[in-house]
Amino acid sequence: MENQLKKLMNDAIQMINKYNNIYICSHVQPDGDNIGSTLALAMAIKKLKKNVSIIKVDDIPSDYIFLPHIDMFEEQEYNDSVDLFISLDSSDLIRLGAGKKFALKAKNIINIDHHITNENFGDINIVSPSSGSTGEIVYRFIKDMKVDIDKDMATCLYTAISTDTGRFMYSNTTYETHLIASELLKIGIDINNININLYQSRTIERTRLFLEALNNLELISENRIALVAVTQDMLQNCNAKMEDTEGIVSFIRNIDSIEVACMLKEMSKEEVKVSLRSKKHVDVSKISIKFGGGGHAKAAGCTLYENIETAKDMLLNEISLSFR
Ligand code: 5GP
Ligand code: MN
Repeated sequence: MENQLKKLMNDAIQMINKYNNIYICSHVQPDGDNIGSTLALAMAIKKLKKNVSIIKVDDIPSDYIFLPHIDMFEEQEYNDSVDLFISLDSSDLIRLGAGKKFALKAKNIINIDHHITNENFGDINIVSPSSGSTGEIVYRFIKDMKVDIDKDMATCLYTAISTDTGRFMYSNTTYETHLIASELLKIGIDINNININLYQSRTIERTRLFLEALNNLELISENRIALVAVTQDMLQNCNAKMEDTEGIVSFIRNIDSIEVACMLKEMSKEEVKVSLRSKKHVDVSKISIKFGGGGHAKAAGCTLYENIETAKDMLLNEISLSFR
């Protein structure tokens, strides 16, 4: 497996060297892993004197605005001069949103990811489900590119790794995760500044939404399932945005008896975005896949095109089945 990944990385590096117009695509509702790995790889490719653009397909949550070169994230005019399209941290083409049409036109696609549900849609698929974050794969990739990782790149990679491993707490955290993190510290990142930006800058609006959401917490199935629904009305009441739901689902998973935590986000009257988390036994990626989504065993998501009450019933039904 290791050798196979190494070979795929070498093939991908040769492909990067061959081309000049390179697009790295972010995904919808981008998270720290997606944003951090995308910026780090874009900076590395820029050092090779290539034209590299980042395709921004959705808003950047305020938590990540502090990252160096975040303005490289730009909505791109559609054009057909894409030589190489690189997707990071996305298990399928749908998750690339408006980026999908660039992918379909590109001469080649490199797909770098760590989701077990990855659909291998690239010409080269560097998919490593044993990696805790895409940031860890990108760290190794940039090393293999023989590009020096500078402080800005290290800041972005550390953000990717820290956010996707739940600050080095989740079961996807490995020996290698810590080795890479320590290398990034050696480069001289300002860990205090990173942590303040990522974890100690919650706005009042986000705090109000957190309280309102928790007020509506439902405990189901002998307190093994926790569910929170965030509606558009709640956002309005708190003057908050949907991105301000970050952290709610993992908070409710922390309740001792809970095995599955579920957050429903009412995007519109007929669209509900679902976040699922589990603690020990249940593989929530399998539940998400049933609704056309994906993710990891202990963190996954999907979208239901239903009203929030129907979506809730459908989900609870599937979650209950997973306990049998
Ligand atoms: P979150 O609940 O934080 O949005 O996502 C948890 C995990 O599930 C992330 O790794 C994310 O990439 C994945 N995920 C969330 N929603 C979807 C979806 O609609 N499709 C796929 N393929 N993966 C998703
Ligand atoms: Mn990830």
